[in-house]
Amino acid sequence: EQCDKATWISADVHDDGPEYRDKEFSHTKTMLERFHALFGLRKFRSNQKEAIDCALERRYHLFVLMPTGGGKSLCYQLPAVLDPGITFVVSPLRSLILDQTQKLLSLGIPCAALTGDRTPAEVSAIYAQCYAPKPKLKLVYITPEKIGQSDQLNKLFSHLYDNNNLARFVVDEAHCISDWGHDFRPDYVKIGILRDRYPRIPFILLTATATPRVQRDMLHQMKLDRHISKLFIQSFNRSNLVYKCFLKGKTDGALARTAQLCLSEQFVGLCGIVYCFSRAECEKSAAYLTNIGVTAQAYHAGLIDQERTDVQTRWANDEYQVICATIAFGMGIDKPNVRFVIHLSMPKSIEGYYQESGRAGRDGEQAYCYLFYSYQDFIKTKRLIMAEQSANATNEAKKVRIHNLHCVYAYCLNNVDCRRTLLLEYFGEQYLSSQCKKYTETRCDNCCNVAETKLVDFTVCAKHVISLVDQLTKQFKSATINQVIDILKGSKQRAIIDAGLDKLEQFNIAEEVSRNSLERLLSKLILDGYLHQDISINDAYGTVTAYIRVGKTNMLSTPITLSVCTKKENSNASSVMSNNSTRNRLVDSCLLKLKDEMKLISSQYHIKYSTI
Ligand code: ADP
Ligand code: MG
Ligand code: ZN
Repeated sequence: EQCDKATWISADVHDDGPEYRDKEFSHTKTMLERFHALFGLRKFRSNQKEAIDCALERRYHLFVLMPTGGGKSLCYQLPAVLDPGITFVVSPLRSLILDQTQKLLSLGIPCAALTGDRTPAEVSAIYAQCYAPKPKLKLVYITPEKIGQSDQLNKLFSHLYDNNNLARFVVDEAHCISDWGHDFRPDYVKIGILRDRYPRIPFILLTATATPRVQRDMLHQMKLDRHISKLFIQSFNRSNLVYKCFLKGKTDGALARTAQLCLSEQFVGLCGIVYCFSRAECEKSAAYLTNIGVTAQAYHAGLIDQERTDVQTRWANDEYQVICATIAFGMGIDKPNVRFVIHLSMPKSIEGYYQESGRAGRDGEQAYCYLFYSYQDFIKTKRLIMAEQSANATNEAKKVRIHNLHCVYAYCLNNVDCRRTLLLEYFGEQYLSSQCKKYTETRCDNCCNVAETKLVDFTVCAKHVISLVDQLTKQFKSATINQVIDILKGSKQRAIIDAGLDKLEQFNIAEEVSRNSLERLLSKLILDGYLHQDISINDAYGTVTAYIRVGKTNMLSTPITLSVCTKKENSNASSVMSNNSTRNRLVDSCLLKLKDEMKLISSQYHIKYSTI
């Protein structure tokens, strides 16, 4: 098993699209005719024609990787219409299946859905259609758990197979099969049974979200060797989306800002999704927005099916401006004119963020992705992960999730590097920030921040931080990130003095460094294992505190560098955050003369170090 994975990791994953470009096939004429007449579309999007041609050739299995909204469905729906027999589509959610089947039926394409909510009579009717000598049905959607559970379904597969009426298996949202992914679904593993049972039936795997590791794992699990499959992989850059991150202030809540944007600024009258941390936050946010005159509706897993379908339909008809949702909402939801996606709290992984924010601007028009974050969010989510006690919350799984969370936090804290570069890097794609800077309308926040940035060596400061944490844990039994930053900055706050922490003034070395830079430094030290974070929950108040201590590898083995803004920080934030606390922070950071950050730290460090 381990060994197999290793071979996959070294296998080359590249786009086979060019191999199929500008080629004519015997099916081309009919294929184009159906594309225009049946689907009513004029031009193929990137890699669509290539994937469809390859599928119709029936020589290979397909793996189609396209960003959300890229048009993956057509890549199997058009072949399904053209090929004899029935195509089975495995899809993780009923809402997604409903969305697709309604659309196909409206185009006059015979299809059906075998989902759990069907009445016995409906199920029998679908099976009767499938057992017809020449079935008219072209596509049947199923949820993955059916494969492991339903003998009736498996008998149908065998019957169709024996009669040459089993056209193809399609796996939508195929990343759900990999436990490396952010959306692992144990039921998806059952799909492997179909590969074993029907080795000659072609498969199409589709996904919008896959890190190279998840890609390889997916192909490995489905036994789709490079020799028997073709990969259609497309750039994940969404040039029409504007990515911005905002640090939540103590007083300027993300929800209040959202309300402001919807009521009187950029998003007036525009349709958007507001992602919330919990069901309770969904309800609270929707109530708040409704109260001040924004038509908003909550959507989460706690609603009954009827309510959910209702919300979706009414949203699709533009009856609500905003949906306040947990991540249960939107997987595959196809509303083209979503103009903004706001995250009120930090998402749980970069993959998840890419996908959730990707629901904006599916029509290709400009749209906004705003992410509000705070250190408290980070701790809150980390705590949730650690406290989880379900069957798939093994220690290994928790480690992966915590790692994913750290990556998101690092993404938020990074106020220097291009957001596109950071997001796409996560998918193994190289993206030059110079390209983002060329966009006039959709440049990311960090690229808008035209201030020059430079790489600063923080090694000395990092060593200092580690010895401070060591000192604090020895002397006071515990240390928090905020304490460390306050001490480094020589804060004279009441709490610091009360705790006697002002006595550690030999550690006040970083007055000139912004809190943001220090937070990024500490976060990096945690990510790299130099510091260790323990989460503690105060049961009486439900508050969460994260204590840090020196990690296992307390010796810095490599230099620690961070890119730092040499001009005022957060200047991009002023466009969206306009109240006092932000302004104070801005003034603060201007005054800090960040330009000489590096020189000052090291010189001060040397002076004060000798006194320790
Ligand atoms: P994905 O599954 O990749 O997220 P979908 O298959 O749901 O994307 O397609 C997203 C939207 O793009 C749908 O509204 C679909 O009708 C539309 N679409 C797909 N292909 C084309 C095309 N070639 N031309 C115009 N619109 C298209
Ligand atoms: Mg899709
Ligand atoms: Zn950028």
